[in-house]
Amino acid sequence: MPSQIRTTGSFSFEFFPPKTPEGEARLRSTWAQLAKLSPEFFSVTYGAGGSTRERTLQTVLEIRAAGHEAAPHLSCVGATRADIASVLDQYRACGIRRMVALRGDMPSGAMAIGELRYASELVAFVRAHTDSHFRIAVACYPEYHPQARSPREDLAHFKQKVVAGADMAITQYFYNADGYFRFVDACRSAGIDIPIFPGIMPIGNFSQLARFSETCGAEIPRWLRLKMESFGDDLASIREFGLEAVSALSARLLEGGAPGLHFYSMNRADLITEIWKRLDLPG
Ligand code: FAD
Repeated sequence: MPSQIRTTGSFSFEFFPPKTPEGEARLRSTWAQLAKLSPEFFSVTYGAGGSTRERTLQTVLEIRAAGHEAAPHLSCVGATRADIASVLDQYRACGIRRMVALRGDMPSGAMAIGELRYASELVAFVRAHTDSHFRIAVACYPEYHPQARSPREDLAHFKQKVVAGADMAITQYFYNADGYFRFVDACRSAGIDIPIFPGIMPIGNFSQLARFSETCGAEIPRWLRLKMESFGDDLASIREFGLEAVSALSARLLEGGAPGLHFYSMNRADLITEIWKRLDLPG
């Protein structure tokens, strides 16, 4: 690990809204620990079709009541304009000033597509309905979105979100730093000038991560997969190798000019806290 890492970046941590009182208690302790690292904000995901609408809002409000900046995610899949407007009004009335705007994924089974088909239409709607009230983050994909017809079109669709009013972007997670730097260069050449924060997924449960990566279009490099698979049920080795790989990736991204990092916490503080120590970041 290089000894001197740039420490001026801005950091954020993502949670999902818990379903049970035990999950809520665990998350409270997680954000209390992660708050010591002075993140810019915590974000809370949103279930497709608004399935977590109330829990996302409650979690965000609790985090704010504890004195931290919080951003709800909002997806448009399956929603009408009236649904979205009502969520925005609720967030605005609660004093929320940030959000992560997404299309979302259609759950399997029947569900209407919704009135807004892409995240760019959602960003435009948020701007039309609430002007500059929200600081809007959007998603982007250094390894390209699985449904994109070509890298060129995916980049053009990312640009549409920026033109519609996005202020910053967070990437899908990845384990290949060069892919991120190449993607940022392509964005700059295409006139996309907002900050692009790498999304970092610490490795807790490797088999779950491998399954999820197949559907979301994030590549697990062969060297990482083979090594992880070779550990079998040896959880301590999986944890240590994952920490080593993700700390090295994070260090390389910060040194190479990434504006900060967004961690997919999976509602756990332990892995992030350890990565923090290894990066020698303040906090
Ligand atoms: P879009 O930007 O709309 O892109 C989706 C696809 O459509 C891409 O292939 C794009 O190239 C294509 N496309 C875009 N515009 C057009 C157009 N005009 N014509 C043709 N094709 C077009 N999901 C959730 O359900 N809840 C969450 O809380 C959540 N949080 C996330 C946070 C982050 C940081 C990230 C990276 C993802 C998150 N997701 C979440 C997953 C996300 O919803 C999925 O990746 C989804 O498949 C795409 O969402 P998007 O906002 O990137 O969509």
